[in-house]
Amino acid sequence: PFDVLIVGGGPAGAAAAVYAARKGIRVGVAAERFGGQTNDTMAIENYISVLETDGPKFAAALEAQVRHYEVDIMNLQRADKIIPASEAGGLISVQMANGASLQAKSVILSTGARWRNVNVPGESQYKNKGVAYCPHCDGPLFKGKHVAVIGGGNSGVEAAIDLAGVVKHVTLVEFADALKADAVLVNKLKSLPNVTIHVNAQTTEITGDGQKVNGLRFKDRASEAEHHVELEGVFVQIGLVPNTEFLKGTVELSRFGEIVIDAKGHTNVPGVFAAGDCTTVPYKQIVIAAGDGAKAALSAFDFLIRSPLV
Ligand code: FAD
Repeated sequence: PFDVLIVGGGPAGAAAAVYAARKGIRVGVAAERFGGQTNDTMAIENYISVLETDGPKFAAALEAQVRHYEVDIMNLQRADKIIPASEAGGLISVQMANGASLQAKSVILSTGARWRNVNVPGESQYKNKGVAYCPHCDGPLFKGKHVAVIGGGNSGVEAAIDLAGVVKHVTLVEFADALKADAVLVNKLKSLPNVTIHVNAQTTEITGDGQKVNGLRFKDRASEAEHHVELEGVFVQIGLVPNTEFLKGTVELSRFGEIVIDAKGHTNVPGVFAAGDCTTVPYKQIVIAAGDGAKAALSAFDFLIRSPLV
């Protein structure tokens, strides 16, 4: 059995693997896609000490650093279920989609999250070519330009306020007939001179010139009138979904599906820790996921040295 089995190989899982391996214990990483969301990223300019890199390069560097240690990397492996230990110091089982079952004294869950897509024509074609999901990451790429934010909940309105300080103009498009964000955010947004808000507006297409985004088409749901706004970027802000469906009923999740953890990365299940975008930790960023992965590994080690020998 593994001393620490890490499920998920994004920045959180990779950091956990490096920290755990450096304790000289048996470490495994099972990941569907090593590197996680960083594979889908164009430029990364906010990972401290790295002025600029791109996603695939960053993902490859993560894997290379983990491979530098004696870590059993199991790529293209999806976990389906976790079975807690039946007694203190007992083994935790992780069942894989391929039928295999892995045993470990401790488990770190770092399965990340995915942005909800609007699923309109142009979205996937222009991903990273004007279509973006993370204002903290990609906002500065649109300095001096006109962008849209799709979504008028807290994340959409926060994104619009944030972007309004960086870009030339922000058009916010919300499907419902009112913005769902907190009143204080909505008031702040409405006070900004370079923001236009459309409610009751259904995004129907993200248009482009074949290379990059050049506009957004939406339908006024009241009048059925179609509108096209010329702009250079679209931030989709309609939700971040944690990859935690397989944990339902075993590990405590928040109402958003995030794994509930404490300051040291403990979940409610003894010996099971979690880190990164799949957890309740605020602000989903690479540097934060990596820091929390390190923290979860140290907590797992702490758990192991205190466990009864069975
Ligand atoms: P993830 O990166 O999501 O990794 C999750 C891992 O778990 C993957 O290996 C996945 O395959 C695996 N997995 C999921 N489910 C299972 C399962 N059931 N069994 C086994 N494995 C599983 N952040 C920044 O700081 N700067 C940026 O510039 C930036 N740009 C971004 C651009 C885009 C387009 C996107 C989508 C995100 C961006 N982010 C950026 C956010 C950043 O990528 C995430 O915060 C970070 O990757 C989270 O790391 P993680 O390890 O928690 O999860």
